[in-house]
Amino acid sequence: MDEIKCLKCGSEKIIKNTTITDFSHGNIEKNLSVYIQKTDRAFFNKSVQGEINAQICGDCGNMDLKVKNPKELWKAYLKSQE
Ligand SMILES: [Zn+2]
Repeated sequence: MDEIKCLKCGSEKIIKNTTITDFSHGNIEKNLSVYIQKTDRAFFNKSVQGEINAQICGDCGNMDLKVKNPKELWKAYLKSQE
């Protein structure tokens, strides 16, 4: 794997693969996610979930967000546009 650098300051102190966690009622951990609704022809309402992954620069704090399964989300998005 290539060395990852911060897009803002060029630092190589990158904290990789962190999840953004929300502590809701009762301190239940919930990782933030995006959802794409995909509707089936058979009256099913399904959604595809993409968990958000963050890389954080240990120097300037810049954060780079990614989802774990972009291809799956893209497919669901295309389906939802039909
Ligand atoms: Zn930085």
